[in-house]
Amino acid sequence: MILLDGKKISNQIKDEISQEVTVLKQQGKRTPHLAAVLVGNDGASLTYVGSKVKACERVGFTSSLIHLPENTTEESLLLKIDELNNDDTLDGFIVQLPLPKHIDEQKILLAVNPKKDVDGFHPENFGRMALDMESYIPATPFGIMEMLKRYRVETSGKHTVVIGRSHIVGRPMSILMSQKGIDSTVTLTHSRTKNLAEITRQADIIIIALGKPEFLTGDMVKKGVTVIDVGITRVPDNTKAKGYTIKGDVDFDSVSRKADFLTPVPGGVGPMTIAMLLKNTLIARQRQLKENRE
Ligand code: NAD
Repeated sequence: MILLDGKKISNQIKDEISQEVTVLKQQGKRTPHLAAVLVGNDGASLTYVGSKVKACERVGFTSSLIHLPENTTEESLLLKIDELNNDDTLDGFIVQLPLPKHIDEQKILLAVNPKKDVDGFHPENFGRMALDMESYIPATPFGIMEMLKRYRVETSGKHTVVIGRSHIVGRPMSILMSQKGIDSTVTLTHSRTKNLAEITRQADIIIIALGKPEFLTGDMVKKGVTVIDVGITRVPDNTKAKGYTIKGDVDFDSVSRKADFLTPVPGGVGPMTIAMLLKNTLIARQRQLKENRE
């Protein structure tokens, strides 16, 4: 069994991005700039945004953290987004989800300029991705595709089963795996799917994004399967200083006995997500340079 080491691959990607930043600097050009908007003080969101800012520093990007109070109104958040859309020194920005309940998430995501939507959440980018056009691919699916590519996991003609149909992971994964050049036969499963284990036992590749710790067990997979575990759940654990352990959606012990390739949690998909957000920001900067013929 080969562990798909997201930490290692993401570091390689970050090194490649750093090299591109050095070239931009040598050419006297502005380096990429990513901004993150965070509303409120959700613990996990603070951690995620903190890691994103740190990753920007590591590759030589400029980063801005716009931390707004929990009681920020939808109107003032929309004004902030308008400001970021029109800031020529900014290549891309993300709005950290979830937003407080009184803000309409969809309205906010629709307000982001698709050219700066490095999270790839805007419907224009989603549609362009589905039509094989130039777009921003959401960072987690982008990271999974990159990991499969770098470990040379065969996808052509294989049966890929995606578990979970969220807009940020499952649904885009099902589209990407069926694209020309990847050529998987895809089954997208969800909470209403009947006899899930029967379907997963037929899978050559399983991508699971569910949020239920250790849901996928060894008896649900066939020998030689590739399993990508997207799940991240904080499970209370008094033996840890933080008071919790991070669990994936895969029962690692039983699945690792049958799988050929498997992502660990942590250290699999998670680090890839941040690296691909940086990659999207670099792409945004490169597209801007091309457009402005700088
Ligand atoms: P979500 O929470 O929005 O949705 C879960 C999906 O699981 C739904 O589509 C639902 O239909 C499906 N589901 C629920 N029960 C099921 C069952 N019994 N059988 C089959 N399908 C079932 O999904 P999400 O936002 O993609 O998040 C899923 C997990 O991935 C979470 O743990 C989240 O924290 C994690 N995540 C990790 C990263 C990363 O960078 N590693 C990124 C995004 C999400």
